Amino acid sequence: MQQLHFDVAIIGGGILGCSIAYFLASFSNASAVVIEQENNFGMHASRRNTGKVHAPFLYDPAKRSLTAKAALKGFDMLRKYCKVNSLPFKEDGVMEVATSEGQIDTLHRYLEWGYKNGLTEDQLKFLAKEEVAKVEPNVSCHSAIVCFRDASTDYELITKHLMCDAQKFGCRVMPNSRFRNFAHNNHLIIRTEGTEKEIIANYVINASGGYSLNIAHGVGLATEYRDLYFRGEYWQAPHEYSDLTRMSIYSVPKYSEYPFLNPHWIIRADGRREVGPNAVPVFSPYSYEWTDDLKNSMAKIFQSSTSIGVMRLMMNSQFIRLASKEFWSSISKRAMVNRVRQFLPSLKSSAFTTRGVAGIRSSLTDKEGNFVPEMLILENDYSLHILNYNSPGATGALPVGAKIVSGLLEKGYLHKSSEKGESLWDISEILE
Ligand SMILES: Cc1cc2nc3c(=O)[nH]c(=O)nc-3n(C[C@H](O)[C@H](O)[C@H](O)COP(=O)(O)OP(=O)(O)OC[C@H]3O[C@@H](n4cnc5c(N)ncnc54)[C@H](O)[C@@H]3O)c2cc1C
Repeated sequence: MQQLHFDVAIIGGGILGCSIAYFLASFSNASAVVIEQENNFGMHASRRNTGKVHAPFLYDPAKRSLTAKAALKGFDMLRKYCKVNSLPFKEDGVMEVATSEGQIDTLHRYLEWGYKNGLTEDQLKFLAKEEVAKVEPNVSCHSAIVCFRDASTDYELITKHLMCDAQKFGCRVMPNSRFRNFAHNNHLIIRTEGTEKEIIANYVINASGGYSLNIAHGVGLATEYRDLYFRGEYWQAPHEYSDLTRMSIYSVPKYSEYPFLNPHWIIRADGRREVGPNAVPVFSPYSYEWTDDLKNSMAKIFQSSTSIGVMRLMMNSQFIRLASKEFWSSISKRAMVNRVRQFLPSLKSSAFTTRGVAGIRSSLTDKEGNFVPEMLILENDYSLHILNYNSPGATGALPVGAKIVSGLLEKGYLHKSSEKGESLWDISEILE
């Protein structure tokens, strides 16, 4: 069997793996390879999402400070990267609405979080009901907050572009190669399905999205966590709704500790309007259709039944009630559109005829059955694993990628490159 030697192997060619590869190839002399199971890059969560560059007002700085910082920095970095490379980046803003009076306190809490997370009073504002009516006359709500520092983009295009740039700086790619396991001796021997080659590396970075917990468990890390999957489905809005609002409209979720956000009214970078996503519990990170789900169900049920945390969650009546609502909105188009009609009453479900592209979130739960609020970055001597990398993960991928690479440079796993030509970035500036 042919052997290929690299300093670093990155498992997963989504936006996170490609961002890491891009900074690693541009800032260091290390030889690197990206191992990807699909025949192209960015084929899972990185293309199956809402396409928003999120401003950090929904993230409690006490629990999600890393996510909030990455989102704040990510906006500037994506704007620059998209501008230089002529990729879509539309600064179109977002409105978050309270559909009942009781939710107004939550809006004030979001304002406070947004300011703590670095947004300014020009960028994030409270709007009373009458002010909302002036900005978005078709929206019905008690009050809202509006954020002008929010944008729409196409993360699939960005992911593919990052991978091309990484290749220009010397990174190798291995598509159609599914990581199976590795053996650790003096170096790592990585075995994959789909290729006759054996990969030898000094260091592994696990950025494999919905599969990442399995790889971490394989090296004895994060064993206290389990993952649950939630399919976010969309319906495309017909042309007649093109002028309904100027910006995307989100509504305050009732239970923010669960991954069940209310479906939004979305304006995509190319102008398409959609409602979604819901969050239907499914059995695998790739269960995009109901038939996929049945195929994967037995293995997941068996795995979950060995976790006390997951079993606790399954007995939590509030979780089950919310999950049932999500199932119903998956089966019934009317139920899904009705959730958005709470703030856009003129929508008619009969006008929606085409589903959008569904995507799957993989959320970690702990031993108590609580959802883990923040991304986890875990390491041992020869590997680093990024887990629970959920929304706004695409927004924050560039700064998170830069941070991981700078950490490896500091620890001496990588050495700085001196002669790779003009770079767009000054890494110390990014990390400030
Ligand atoms: C419905 C939905 C809406 C979202 N909306 C937004 C949004 O508006 N804004 C935002 O910022 N974020 C959003 N997100 C979150 C964002 O999309 C993700 O955080 C981000 O794409 C994660 O990137 P990733 O590279 O970690 O994962 P992925 O894109 O899933 O990449 C992981 C890669 O690893 C590969 N892989 C897995 N296992 C193996 C293996 N064994 N061998 C080789 N390769 C493997 C996969 O094929 C895949 O290409 C949304 C997510 C969802 C699901």
